[in-house]
Amino acid sequence: MTQLLPRLPFVVNHHVDRRHYPHGVAFMDGQYLPMSEAKISVLDWGFLHSDATYDTVHVWNGRFFRLNLHLDRFLGGIERLRMNLPYDREEITSILKSCVALSGHKSAYVEMICTRGSSPTFSRDPRQAENRFMAFAVPFGSVANNEQLERGLHVAISETVRIPPKSIDPSIKNYHWLDLVKGLFDAYDMGAETALILDTDGHIAEGPGFNVFIVRDGSLTTPAFGVLPGITRRTVFDLCAEIGLSVAATDVSRAEIKQADEVFVTSTAGGIMPVTRIDEAKIANGKVGPITSRLMNFYWQKHDDPAWSTAVTYP
Ligand code: PLP
Repeated sequence: MTQLLPRLPFVVNHHVDRRHYPHGVAFMDGQYLPMSEAKISVLDWGFLHSDATYDTVHVWNGRFFRLNLHLDRFLGGIERLRMNLPYDREEITSILKSCVALSGHKSAYVEMICTRGSSPTFSRDPRQAENRFMAFAVPFGSVANNEQLERGLHVAISETVRIPPKSIDPSIKNYHWLDLVKGLFDAYDMGAETALILDTDGHIAEGPGFNVFIVRDGSLTTPAFGVLPGITRRTVFDLCAEIGLSVAATDVSRAEIKQADEVFVTSTAGGIMPVTRIDEAKIANGKVGPITSRLMNFYWQKHDDPAWSTAVTYP
């Protein structure tokens, strides 16, 4: 007869826990740790209040892409949020390189985070909080999978309005994502794969983790207002300058995006990614356009260029 084992109220199984984490290495409180062991306090205001800033840079074929621009944005955000870190720019660079080197990943998604932390006396005064720095390197991830990169993403425009810049400065990269997540659910309800949401004037703003560009008559435009100044967006401006394409940041209406010749989105998580369908309609002939393809190729070529990338030294 099978003997019944006593039931535990819940099971804490370290091995099961581990399986939910991607392979990678984190840095926290002066130590390098496997991802499964990198935990923060539930009292950290980064978690309780979204009082944090972060940046994500990628490593491709063993090289960081535009690391200096990511560090500029990260350190600028820390300053504007009146946070302080015990590490300077060089030390942060070396921590990020070590996370990647220890992870062994040749293509990685690397995040650096500064949270408000919490006050040792549980004071509600943010000036008394001890800010915290953490970083991690996990496998490279993309907004669009390979199939979507080939045929173009299907995007829906949600009525959701991105949090206004007067509330949260979008140039401080932040975790205020409830609007973007709502947009994503709206998009799924509409049968699309991802979303674009609006600015406070009803123009197109951005999507969950990406900026957007449209191409019309050979010229490019991207929303100017209420969006994160993405490093990939900035890279598109730099690539256009090199190949002589006109590009401007301005208002982009729903009508303009739907009548565009080409549309693409940009993110560190995936680079330049084509969009071939918005709501129910195809963009132009529904195929990835020539300017998008050209920029995509040029973007990935730049990843080997020492002027745009920094090598990681692996053990
Ligand atoms: N917009 C938002 C809201 C983002 O979170 C991101 C990246 O995470 C982007 C745009 C794209 O920025 P980047 O090109 O720097 O990755």
